[in-house]
Amino acid sequence: MTTDAGGIVGEFLSLKESTDADVLAMQCGDFYEFFADDAELVADELDLKVSQKSSHGSSYPMAGVPLSELTPYLKALVERGYRVAVAEQYETDDGHAREIERVVSPGTVVDPDGAEARYLAAVEHDDGDDGDAWGVAFAEVTTGRFHAAAFAELDDVRAELHRFAPVELLPGPGVRDDDARLADLREATDARLTLHEAEAFAPGRARHRLGDHFGTQALAAVGLDADPAVAAAGAVLHYVDETGAGVLASMTRLGGLDAGGRVALDATTQRNLELVETMRGESTGTLLDTLDHTETAAGTRLLREWLTRPRRDRAELERRGKAVEAFASAALARDRLLDTLDGTADLERLAARATSGAAGPRDLVAVRSALERLPELAAAIDGTELADSPVPDVLARPDQGAARDLHDELSEAIAAEPPGSIGGDGGVIARGYDEELDELVAEYEEAVDWLDTLAEREKRQHGLSHVSVDRNKTDGYYIQVGKSVAGGVPEHYHEIKTLKNSKRFVTEELEERERTVLRMEERREELERRIFEEVRERVAAEAELLQDVGRALAELDVLAALGHHAATNDWTRPAFTDGDELRIEAGRHPVVEQTTDFVPNDLRMDSERGFLIVTGPNMSGKSTYMRQCALISLLAQAGSFVPADSATLPLVDGVYTRVGALDELAQGRSTFMVEMQELSNILHSATEDSLVILDEVGRGTATYDGISIAWAATEYLHNEVRARTLFATHYHELTALAEHLPRVANVHVAAEERDGEVTFLRRVREGPTDRSYGVHVADLAGVPDPVVGRADEVLDRLREEKAIEARGAGGGGTGADGDGTRQAVFDLSAGEFVAGGDGGGREDAGDAGDPDRAGDPDRPASAAGNGAAITASDGDGEGGGRGLPPDRALDPEVEAVLSALRDTDVNETPPVELMAKVQEWQARLDDE
Ligand code: ADP
Repeated sequence: MTTDAGGIVGEFLSLKESTDADVLAMQCGDFYEFFADDAELVADELDLKVSQKSSHGSSYPMAGVPLSELTPYLKALVERGYRVAVAEQYETDDGHAREIERVVSPGTVVDPDGAEARYLAAVEHDDGDDGDAWGVAFAEVTTGRFHAAAFAELDDVRAELHRFAPVELLPGPGVRDDDARLADLREATDARLTLHEAEAFAPGRARHRLGDHFGTQALAAVGLDADPAVAAAGAVLHYVDETGAGVLASMTRLGGLDAGGRVALDATTQRNLELVETMRGESTGTLLDTLDHTETAAGTRLLREWLTRPRRDRAELERRGKAVEAFASAALARDRLLDTLDGTADLERLAARATSGAAGPRDLVAVRSALERLPELAAAIDGTELADSPVPDVLARPDQGAARDLHDELSEAIAAEPPGSIGGDGGVIARGYDEELDELVAEYEEAVDWLDTLAEREKRQHGLSHVSVDRNKTDGYYIQVGKSVAGGVPEHYHEIKTLKNSKRFVTEELEERERTVLRMEERREELERRIFEEVRERVAAEAELLQDVGRALAELDVLAALGHHAATNDWTRPAFTDGDELRIEAGRHPVVEQTTDFVPNDLRMDSERGFLIVTGPNMSGKSTYMRQCALISLLAQAGSFVPADSATLPLVDGVYTRVGALDELAQGRSTFMVEMQELSNILHSATEDSLVILDEVGRGTATYDGISIAWAATEYLHNEVRARTLFATHYHELTALAEHLPRVANVHVAAEERDGEVTFLRRVREGPTDRSYGVHVADLAGVPDPVVGRADEVLDRLREEKAIEARGAGGGGTGADGDGTRQAVFDLSAGEFVAGGDGGGREDAGDAGDPDRAGDPDRPASAAGNGAAITASDGDGEGGGRGLPPDRALDPEVEAVLSALRDTDVNETPPVELMAKVQEWQARLDDE
């Protein structure tokens, strides 16, 4: 765009050139105007009318909004992802000038109405010497929240992005210079990406800036020393400062993300468990939505934080549990407390408004009335069951003395019901607060009183009737006299106007008084403004106190809300154990139970039983059961009660889930690839103390691939990771693992079939389900009989075929390998284990299915001759068919495959690689 337009348009265009914002709003008198392309854009987006502005012989589109209405338009533009520069007009000696005062972007728009947090984020990456290093920072300009941390894994960055759901993200140079990384980030967030200047991310400068702002100790206090983390945090500060929103000062504390004390919850798991957003991206029907009985916006924000960041610190959880328990049982006190919180202003937000200078008289009144709640809340607690719980301590956390002082000062300084802004008739500052103002107001009132009574005096003194004294903009104060008596006015009356029925006069004295009144009004406004600003600064100086009080009120709100939910839904307080035992009696799904006549189920796990294979027909309730178990664990570690009759739970360090396919295909990734990435992440990240939920693994590929992967993953989780695992699978074959792997057990969700009708009982029972229901469900769903019949046939044939194919490949029996390691052989055609033995190819497949004999080391293996066989390694064995008799001559290709198989350490090979290997082996055998 050239700037030879000159005039006001020229000025607009050259200001626009000086900023990297998408749109410029320039003040022109009482309006903010947009010109040229910006006018078109704004008109399109916001439905404004476009007119034409002529300038230096050309015509330009122009759109405008009144000064007082800019904020909603700004917000609307920013919501749509634009960054808007705002140029203000100010007076100079020779007219006026305009300058860009601030740039409003999604992450820096101050004062959004919604209760939702709007985070600004920065992410930086560094190829450090010790591998990947990520740094993230999150800031919320309306509450002053500021967090930063370093991570070694992109997955952790993703998890935080999911948790904070930022609206704007600044990728650092280490991220944006790498297409793949940038693409990863883009996929992990809906935030608008803003390319902020690279120098802001320079670690040296960033460190300096952080030290200046938060104090040099702060960095060490939150353990922030990794360069990318410092860079991200520094860049966020720089950006907030640059945009001129003036809220930098409200960021009083630098917080870490304390991943160590939290339950690891990756983004996938947060989504799968529908904590704050359903799989479809909605907020109703989530765990947060179900539990949110809070009265305040700050309470909702804190509850969200608790649910997405469960804790591992037992003392903290016991404290929350006790408080919730007190609230659950003290219904009256709870209601009173919630009533008191109702309508309390958002102190964190008000603190930010005070520091940015945006707070008006009514904001300070809101602060005052929020502070007033402290003693009221104390009274609501005092003498009730709450008094003997941790509840009073929450309230006592902020500095009570300081809060009282600030409250008293605000009471003294600000009128009870001040107008919305300074000026006009005054009345913002309370009487008795400032002597000078009081004197001025007294004089002013006296002067006004003189004017108010002037008409009466004039009537009396000059014997006039129909006299009034009034004031308007053009004439100022005047004496109005009815036309009939206007001839008799005294001489010192000067006529200023004739109306239809009256005449207006002034006198010298009236003019003198008028000047005095106007002077006093001006002076009063000036004084009120000055005093108000002092008071506001005093409030800003207490931003930290207000944040503390805000946090305390939010916590009371959350605890009371959780108590309310527990009491009204028959939830129970969980007990935590240091041991391995996990016992849930009559557990329910917290969200599903709200809308369904829910059938409760138990869960029992311990050191002997750490891996449950969950089977059952489609739609029987497997997913629901597993999710409810995960949610109960999470709720407990959020500090809440849980939906169960009783629950004894070990503290978990992470919850990992892998649940049926989402719409990843739409995102250009194959479902199977996603499934494997998720599985890989779980196998890498979970520990003995984690809870793993697998809802179908290997479904996205061919059956035998799928089984192989599910099989290997089960072994790995059972033997190596040793995480507590619930694994729902439609591979009925896997249920046989329970006989071999010591900590694996089967449970199934029962269904009853009578006269061809299946009734879902929703009951979880011990043992595997008795059949595979796939074809059966097709039948139920009304698929035509010939198709169902044929499907049955095909299924049988497939099983046979597989057996034949495997035999052609040479079989592979295996047995006890001399050092006493147990091994078992799985016969795919029979669908069951048979005993490991000497591996001699005896053809006794007919017996293979006898479960009583399975696993018996003395019994010869039967599978080698006619079935595909897999060995299950139980963790201390070597695996791999070493028991082949030397006299069986094998094809060299088969030999090669076997030797590759022997050389593969199942425990050391990532599953995806294993899968690739198995595929390759199969291909080689197929070529035979
Ligand atoms: P699956 O994973 O076995 O296919 P789901 O867990 O998706 O089955 O459950 C299928 C349906 O059954 C869901 O609509 C769910 O609401 C309902 N359901 C599951 N468990 C229960 C239960 N314990 N009580 C009542 N309804 C249930």
